Amino acid sequence: MARPVVARTLSALHRARADLTKRNATIALVPTMGALHDGHISLVRLARRRAKKVVVSIFVNPQQFAPHEDFGSYPRTVKEDIARLAVEGVDLVWNPDVKTMYPEGFATAIVPEGPATAGLEDRFRPHFFGGVAIVVAKLLLQVRPDVAIFGEKDYQQLKVVTRMARDLDLGTKIVGAPLIRERDGLAMSSRNVYLSADERRAAPTLFRSMKETAKRIRAGEDLATALDAGRALIARAGFDLDYLEVRHAETLAPIASLKDGPARMLVAGRIGSTRLIDNIRV
Ligand code: AMP
Repeated sequence: MARPVVARTLSALHRARADLTKRNATIALVPTMGALHDGHISLVRLARRRAKKVVVSIFVNPQQFAPHEDFGSYPRTVKEDIARLAVEGVDLVWNPDVKTMYPEGFATAIVPEGPATAGLEDRFRPHFFGGVAIVVAKLLLQVRPDVAIFGEKDYQQLKVVTRMARDLDLGTKIVGAPLIRERDGLAMSSRNVYLSADERRAAPTLFRSMKETAKRIRAGEDLATALDAGRALIARAGFDLDYLEVRHAETLAPIASLKDGPARMLVAGRIGSTRLIDNIRV
């Protein structure tokens, strides 16, 4: 089992990238914040099918956390992560520190619009997509991959990144990957380790309520009525709900019925102090 090259400086990254592409090999990038679980690994496997060489970045990006959020306590397990990526045959791990990504005096912002202002995550985490946009733009410019894989777990983020890569001619094809769940339906997330035993038992309610609500909508129930019932189910399980919405699956614009186009249901809520998000096709 060959260990991946681990680059922690820009010069090491550029050297490793030049090595990887000596024979014109294509590159796929999987951007992550580490604390890897099977959801991340499914992205790595998709990356292997999409390109000759696979690069995984591990960087907990301070710019996408608000001061009151969990940047400090976000799980960091880089050693274990690299061992898992070695098993998967990953070629290169890009693991810069904060100073490398944001050197003293860093003063550039990207302000994504369109899907980034749909009124979902952006309403509750107004700093979030600006932080995602700048770090993803930097990662794509640093690694210059042919394709980059993003999970549908972060559905709005996938749409924001796809739009940005196109708008800025970043030269990378953005590929979405299916959301991976635990056996009981809870979407896998690095943040699931924050859940107490009671919260963990209640957490699959998010998925179950969405499935139930989608079933009612597909059976012809009015969207607004079905969503209200879904919101009540989620609140009853102990969630402090941020949103449960059905949107156009591509633009994330509000829709009044399933006739208005392909639809996606998206949810976010807090249980205890942990904020969870999830989504399904309707
Ligand atoms: P993160 O480390 O949370 O920033 O996630 C890195 C990438 O993995 C993002 O593209 C996520 O959408 C994706 N991801 C996280 N959890 C899952 C999951 N359960 N299924 C599929 N992709 C995921």
